[in-house]
Amino acid sequence: MKKLSAKDLEDYKARLEALLAMLSGDIDKLEEEALGEHSQPQESSTEGGADSYFQEFSLQLLERDENTVREVLAALERIQNGSYGMCEACEQPILKERLKMMPHARNCIACQRKEEEGGS
Ligand SMILES: [Zn+2]
Repeated sequence: MKKLSAKDLEDYKARLEALLAMLSGDIDKLEEEALGEHSQPQESSTEGGADSYFQEFSLQLLERDENTVREVLAALERIQNGSYGMCEACEQPILKERLKMMPHARNCIACQRKEEEGGS
């Protein structure tokens, strides 16, 4: 199996950084929405229930994105220490097709499937 070239690594690093910028931008926006910075002050609202529903929804998105941000940061770290592109479970190279779709992937497709099926 061939290791990733320096050029490939640069390419994935650029993808990860772009993804990180996108996710960070989303999180800022979601935080503003969740904290209600853009909402108009309501003097005598009778629709508070709907507002809090949307607040919860935004916070759920926020949580999911923060997990992705952590994955992306971990992938950038793996580029630094030279372990990027290897499956953490079976230590085989992850297919390039998969890395292009999901540059922060830490498992190969086979191991990811096993994990989703609940192991064994
Ligand atoms: Zn694997």
